[in-house]
Amino acid sequence: MHELSIAMSIIDIAAETSRTHDDARVIAVHLKIGRMSGVVIDALLSAFTIAKEDTVLANAKLMIEDLPVKVRCPKCQCERLADSIQCLCCSVCRTVSAEITQGDELDVVAVELEPLEIRQ
Ligand SMILES: [Zn+2]
Repeated sequence: MHELSIAMSIIDIAAETSRTHDDARVIAVHLKIGRMSGVVIDALLSAFTIAKEDTVLANAKLMIEDLPVKVRCPKCQCERLADSIQCLCCSVCRTVSAEITQGDELDVVAVELEPLEIRQ
């Protein structure tokens, strides 16, 4: 399952951040996921719930920013929302664009750690 391997790499990245901060527990991982990244967010959330057990991320949440697809429109000469994932054309003038400017991201933006002073 594709999303399970993504969930495990997210956990690896966050666990590494935790290790460099005295093994602080992770409370949230912030992600940016583009609609063309091929990631099914619901599947990723379920995979993460399973994979995080018994790790420093056991209580962590995924905070996902779901990014729409944007293209550079050659006619409008600016960045526009794409009409759809299937049709990469400008949502304003419908000109087909060859340049995607946003929408294929799969990035860990930030790892939020529990402050050390409230640890038991
Ligand atoms: Zn346009």
